[in-house]
Amino acid sequence: MKTAIYPGSFDPITLGHLNVIRRASGIFDRVVVCIMKNAGKQTAMFTREERMEMARRVVARFPNVQVTTYDGLIAAYADTFPEGAVIVKGLRANTDFENEFQMALINKKINPELDTMFLTASEKYTFLSSSVVKELAGYGADLREFLPYEIIPDVEARARERRV
Ligand code: ADP
Repeated sequence: MKTAIYPGSFDPITLGHLNVIRRASGIFDRVVVCIMKNAGKQTAMFTREERMEMARRVVARFPNVQVTTYDGLIAAYADTFPEGAVIVKGLRANTDFENEFQMALINKKINPELDTMFLTASEKYTFLSSSVVKELAGYGADLREFLPYEIIPDVEARARERRV
């Protein structure tokens, strides 16, 4: 069984994330979306539990995708799969490349068995990040082009709460 681990903060899960998940689910037998603590990200909109619940709602349409969380290093998490796993990441632009390349090399250093595979972002979503969505939501923008429909009410509600 070929497993892909897709780690990130998913605060919240966007159509860009979903595009990577959909494509990975066609390549691998199983995709595990692993929702990490937002290390260094002070601007969290949702708790980890909320992010997981929203992601679960969105990926319910894919039978071979599951959502989980892990507190330690991804390189250690990958070791918990007896048949091995690879990390999948989406690459949007140069800035992603620098960070992701460094992270992939560090993971390989910690766990030499562990490979990272990159899926290029769909052109349609190259500009899209969770931070952009949070900013737009703050201004009451229409989020339908950016977010899976299942979670739009959650993001709108949280943005409203933050405005008052
Ligand atoms: P963000 O950068 O949106 O806060 P995460 O930390 O949750 O997202 O990112 C998890 C992974 O998803 C990273 O590999 C990131 O490059 C990828 N990703 C995020 N947005 C997109 C997108 N629009 N298209 C492709 N990949 C993406």
